[in-house]
Amino acid sequence: MLQVYVRFGNVVECLCELDDAELFLTRAKRFYPLATSYIDEGIRLAGKSFDASQIEYRKTAVGESWHFSSNCSQWPTVNFALSKGASDNSILCNECVIKSRIVNA
Ligand SMILES: [Zn+2]
Repeated sequence: MLQVYVRFGNVVECLCELDDAELFLTRAKRFYPLATSYIDEGIRLAGKSFDASQIEYRKTAVGESWHFSSNCSQWPTVNFALSKGASDNSILCNECVIKSRIVNA
């Protein structure tokens, strides 16, 4: 899903996990140098105001994406897996990303 957000410098706003952003920055330096300044800035801002390790992630038994916003219409309430923080290859729910941006705006 990351490639969708590579345009216009909004990439880091859509990333929810600082580790992901840093991994992405490493890749961007190789493959998309123009984006690195935006990602650097995003990591800097994220480090100030966002502690990803405090986020609770939930995933349904059949779902592939992790949810982290209780405002999400698909927020799992039964039969879900629980995780603190997301691993590097986690797929995050798009709706959660959008809702978290609204809440934090
Ligand atoms: Zn969700």
